[in-house]
Amino acid sequence: MGTLVSVNPRTGETVGSVETTPPERVAEVVVRARRAFEAWSGTPIRERLARLRGFKRLILDRGDEVAETVAAETGKDPADAYLQDVLVALNVVAHYVRRAERYLEVRSARTWPFVTTAAATFFRPRGVAGVISPWNYPFLLPMIPTVSALAAGCTVVLKPSEVTPLTGELIGRLADEAGLGTDVVSVIQGGGDVGSALVEADVDVLSFTGSTAVGRRVAEAAGRRLIPVILELGGNDAMLVLEDADLGRAARAAAWGATLVAGQTCVAVERVYVVDEVYDEFLSALESQFDRLNAGGGDRWDVGPIITEAQLGVVERHVADAVERGAKVLRGGHRVETKRGRFYAPTLVVDVPADALMMTEETFGPVLPVVRVADEDEAVAAANSSAYGLHGSVWTADKRRGVRVARRLRTGTVAVNDVAVNFATPGIPFGGVGLSGVGVALGPEGIRAYCHPQGVTVSRLGVPTTQLVGAALPRRGLRYWKALGRLLYRW
Ligand code: NAD
Repeated sequence: MGTLVSVNPRTGETVGSVETTPPERVAEVVVRARRAFEAWSGTPIRERLARLRGFKRLILDRGDEVAETVAAETGKDPADAYLQDVLVALNVVAHYVRRAERYLEVRSARTWPFVTTAAATFFRPRGVAGVISPWNYPFLLPMIPTVSALAAGCTVVLKPSEVTPLTGELIGRLADEAGLGTDVVSVIQGGGDVGSALVEADVDVLSFTGSTAVGRRVAEAAGRRLIPVILELGGNDAMLVLEDADLGRAARAAAWGATLVAGQTCVAVERVYVVDEVYDEFLSALESQFDRLNAGGGDRWDVGPIITEAQLGVVERHVADAVERGAKVLRGGHRVETKRGRFYAPTLVVDVPADALMMTEETFGPVLPVVRVADEDEAVAAANSSAYGLHGSVWTADKRRGVRVARRLRTGTVAVNDVAVNFATPGIPFGGVGLSGVGVALGPEGIRAYCHPQGVTVSRLGVPTTQLVGAALPRRGLRYWKALGRLLYRW
């Protein structure tokens, strides 16, 4: 059995280690999860939600430990980790504890013209949910699908990122301590080979959060097995600053949104389109914001480390590519030299052509290109030119206009006069279109994703409806059906 070592990217220090799960053992874990499914899915929903309420309380009691573990493995500030991972996760659990029963209620349906038939949709849990998650919000991102699946009645086999195994292990421990039940949540550890083994194992539904490249592979494997898959993938999110926007607030949001977890956030602001009339004023407000940001060493920092050397290479490549194509770097544009850890300076870039890598791909670093556009229409067209479609934001003093523009964006989520907030809003679906994914998390759709909707009809009069209308034996002729058609649909 191998070992996964967790390293703090801020300090380079080893934080701890876990044993990896041999890929050939993953199938057994799924078999045990399937056995546990019998009891868990048979537990009345109120009882399941009561146990999830206990899970929530335990997370609240142990929030410091969660935040410290996340901070140690990702290099985040523990306060940021508490806000982003603990509080947002608590909000999701609290939401489903309160709402899941309603979201999964039986829905009766109209049956016209079969007036003697009653019909309803039941949401039946699919079985074992495989959950594969990334490193950047290592508590929150596994928790969203895990809690959604559990509330729906599924059991879960979770493979956390190999970069943050201790946080993954902690989720398993907390689930056990909360008394959810043996094998209701199982954590397997390892890299792509273990993830791949989970995808190939006998799971009934898969939730994958991570890069588009790996997501595509997961989808192909799920396609071969004909199981549903929810893919929460990368983004290249646009911010649209219109001429009537509050420029000070927009600039602060842009600086924060572009450097959240050093830009390694799926809903990070990755491109800003500013209407010509206010471009200069906005840019100077943004420059002042960037001047205040501090990356890397020292006691006080706003922009944390880049998770791996490979990721730092991507950021450097995107900046070099933009410069080669004529872009001008106004702030940053280089690594931050520190004794330990890996940091990249918050970087502001202008005059970036539309085909530069940072405009077409996810940079996943603290880099923000700002582009001048003539008007709202050009801003919308530029935003929509991306193959990604996760999140975006619209800045305007006119809320109705904001919503109107939001509805023109080809993205799964949009915030008007804010950034990234949708991820912390569990009442609405979160997901992407295009290269950003398939399916959604959160909201009613996010829990129903772990169910198959089963349609049930009941013949109310004791006479089968098909016999009543004449579909069954003895057979009716063409004239009869034509007359019925005219009677029913002539209006
Ligand atoms: P990644 O794709 O490298 O890894 C994600 C997970 O997939 C890890 O657990 C990894 O071990 C596993 N994996 C790797 N190869 C696999 C394979 N062949 N089969 C199955 N699993 C495999 O992503 P990452 O670097 O950890 O995270 C960053 C990416 O995640 C970014 O693109 C970011 O935008 C995206 N992300 C998306 C969302 C969202 O909600 N849309 C949220 C956070 C992060």
